[in-house]
Amino acid sequence: MTTLPVAGTAHVRRAAAGLLQAERRTVASMVLLNAFAAVAGLGGPWLLGRIVDTVAGGGASVGAVDRLAAGILLCTLVQIVLARTALAVGFRFGERTAARVRERFLDRALALPASVAERVPAGDLATRGTADVGAVAATLRDAVPEVLIAAGQALFVIVAVFVLNPLLGAVAVLGLAGIPAATHWYLRRARRAYLEEGAAGSALADEMASTIAGARTVEAFGLRERRVAAAREAITRSLRARLRTLFLRSVLFPAVDVSYVVPVVAVLLVGGVLHVDGRLSLGAVAASALYLRQLAVPLDAILIWLEQLQSSAASFARVEGLVAIPPAVTVPGPPPANDRIEVRDVRYAYDGGRDVLRGVDLTVRPGERLAVVGPSGAGKSTLGRLLAGVDRPRSGTVTVGGVPIADLPADLLRRQVVLVSQEHHVFRDTVRGNLVLAAPDATDDRLRAALTVVGADWVDELPEGLDTPLGGTGLALDGARAQQLALARVVLADPHTVVLDEATALLDPTTARDAERALAAVLHDRTVIAVAHRLQTAHDADRVAVMEAGRLVELGTHDDLVAAGGAYAALWRTWHGG
Ligand code: ADP
Repeated sequence: MTTLPVAGTAHVRRAAAGLLQAERRTVASMVLLNAFAAVAGLGGPWLLGRIVDTVAGGGASVGAVDRLAAGILLCTLVQIVLARTALAVGFRFGERTAARVRERFLDRALALPASVAERVPAGDLATRGTADVGAVAATLRDAVPEVLIAAGQALFVIVAVFVLNPLLGAVAVLGLAGIPAATHWYLRRARRAYLEEGAAGSALADEMASTIAGARTVEAFGLRERRVAAAREAITRSLRARLRTLFLRSVLFPAVDVSYVVPVVAVLLVGGVLHVDGRLSLGAVAASALYLRQLAVPLDAILIWLEQLQSSAASFARVEGLVAIPPAVTVPGPPPANDRIEVRDVRYAYDGGRDVLRGVDLTVRPGERLAVVGPSGAGKSTLGRLLAGVDRPRSGTVTVGGVPIADLPADLLRRQVVLVSQEHHVFRDTVRGNLVLAAPDATDDRLRAALTVVGADWVDELPEGLDTPLGGTGLALDGARAQQLALARVVLADPHTVVLDEATALLDPTTARDAERALAAVLHDRTVIAVAHRLQTAHDADRVAVMEAGRLVELGTHDDLVAAGGAYAALWRTWHGG
């Protein structure tokens, strides 16, 4: 199975810058409001220093001290109001940006080529679309505004100490050096650790999903212990990944706590010496120490979020990883010149494995019924998928009217060829919603006519008719009805060619007869390529193509092939018990 790629650091950085750029006005007003708040915040300690100096100078009147104290109160109030406003602006930025990330992910996921979407682990795509997108959104909403604000405050505080006394500023910055050292240690390990934590989580979800999806098979073949072992292994891996990130955190946080105290102590020591020497006022020393104590608040905020920033950067890399997959190509070229489907020297391999189609040549005559037979694993379904444009060949060409089928845009493709397989997915939508997928402009009358063709008269009897919700909490359809909907979609798409891949194989014999009648009505006047599971289908076809080990070994009418006495004749004899 292919795995989904993860975006590289450079790409993640560019994508994050793009998100900020898209909201540059909001970001600018947040930064500006925050800068004013920080300046107001610096007022308090500075005024306190003035009070210390006034009192220490001996000439203090009560009135002067009161005025300075009122100034401190005012500065604090202004700072609170401005900081709150900046935060509110920041949240707005976060919500809008989170919505943008969600939409982009959805667009990308929907643009995945069918061949990729079918083959990537469903759990991985689902985890990225839910847990990862959620983590990124939460970070944008909560962490990013607070970190931007905290970073601004920290910067202003350090600058203020420098302004009071450059030497004290330098001492403070030196004292803070432990914090970047600890965080550097942490960050160097964290990206990998969090990516592994995410991957292990996805793998666990996949394990669970596939066990549940295959529950019947698990029961039938007594695979229980093997599945339990696999789940246990996935859980162990996830646990190990989580313990690793926990270890990283439990080193980082104590180291940082100690680092906060160091600059305060250093400034008090050096400041004390300077004051005794008469080179610095007591007030300036007091203000510097207060500033550095204040620094703990924004730095704590940054560090608390740092972990979330780090883990959601890993999530963001997984969300952005979808970009690395080229979207389904829909080159607007010339439309097909006619209805003739040609397969020329086609080779195909799943995910770089060995070739499962090994040089197939075939011309499908417009209007014919062609049955494709052969042993299981011969490549019949694979050929069917290429003929229907679901996958493109590794080499060689599959064309309709001279145009590569897989290059046709979806709306044009479904008017050429449609694949009907055993899977009849019912979308969580109304009956109408499930039908108009195949013909967006169809009127209700056309929808009803299509339902009549496939014998789905039960829709008329539903109280809400075409508006009846299906799937999820809506009406559940059995296999036969789901197939009728699928066939009605074919009628609506109105392709000249239908590829049937064991279309009625799963139905029980009583409904199979109705299904076959419906199918016959749908196939009327169309070219039909049927991957046949019963040789009766081959007997009734205009021509039979016999596949063996990725090659087309025989092609002709039933009678000719039986007369030729080759592979098909042998199959036919076995089947007929002859
Ligand atoms: P048939 O329809 O004749 O039974 P298929 O076209 O289904 O044969 O399969 C041809 C070969 O390709 C088989 O060896 C099968 O195991 C392999 N194959 C089919 N589908 C996949 C897939 N999704 N990934 C990898 N290998 C596949």
